[in-house]
Amino acid sequence: MSDKVLEARPILERFRLDGRVALVTGGGRGIGRAYAHALGEAGAAVAILDMRLDLAASVVAELQAKGIDALAVEADVRREDQVQAALDAVLARWGKLTIGVNNAGVGLWQPSESMSLEQWNEVLSVNLTGVFVCAKIESQAMLAAGYGKIINTASMSGSIVNTPQCQAAYNASKAAVMHLTRSLAAEWAPRGVRVNSISPGYTRTLLVEDLLATPEGQQVMPRWMSLTPMGHMGEVTDLQGAAVFLAGEVSDFMTGADLIIDGGYCAW
Ligand code: NAD
Repeated sequence: MSDKVLEARPILERFRLDGRVALVTGGGRGIGRAYAHALGEAGAAVAILDMRLDLAASVVAELQAKGIDALAVEADVRREDQVQAALDAVLARWGKLTIGVNNAGVGLWQPSESMSLEQWNEVLSVNLTGVFVCAKIESQAMLAAGYGKIINTASMSGSIVNTPQCQAAYNASKAAVMHLTRSLAAEWAPRGVRVNSISPGYTRTLLVEDLLATPEGQQVMPRWMSLTPMGHMGEVTDLQGAAVFLAGEVSDFMTGADLIIDGGYCAW
């Protein structure tokens, strides 16, 4: 019997992403931007997809300053035609897509009894339908190649109900992203495409800072911190290692899983 441990390449080499091509949605700021930097630093070429081309272009400039091959594409993840055009641009530039990070999302605090259907649909369409649209289109290139790594951004809100703020649409969308992840993982595993998710806890980005700036937001922080064993919010850099791990060959036997990175919130 061969000795896999002795035959394997050194472990840090197996984390490298040289020669891989990544697409990061919502990559123009926040968590997506941090993922883009991490994947690029690990060796991948990176396309930044965002509905705000100005944000995507500025992240591309940051990546290029580090010597990372990068491309900005403008698309709304809810629009199949726009996501298809983004994938076409990636394929025209690099000829393949190996890593798809479906991260674009929106938050909403709204009591359910007064939530409009428009508000509900907005959250579900970006956070759930957008992930499906992107995964579907990414999978077409990956299944044809017989290999791919899809990483969806879920949230600890898919496993717990946040308090004290009311965010039923967001919570439902993220629970659905986790089960969509498992469903796609089972469907595509025999054909080489792995699908996993990362569930951040409270992480310092403009999405959260905007909510915290509201009158309601100023009340929540003490409660959040009392529920977080580590007692502080996460930084986007706390999530980067998980993305590199899930993007590379080192996690090739892993699919349908969710990595919770939340300072221990879900442990209580
Ligand atoms: P953010 O608002 O800072 O960044 C989101 C990015 O997505 C922006 O650049 C925005 O332009 C883009 N975007 C939004 N809607 C889009 C659409 N329809 N099409 C294309 N691009 C779109 O948010 P963030 O905090 O970095 O969150 C990123 C992801 O992480 C989201 O899915 C969010 O739900 C999830 N998340 C965040 C936290 C947190 O505490 N920040 C916690 C758990 C999960």
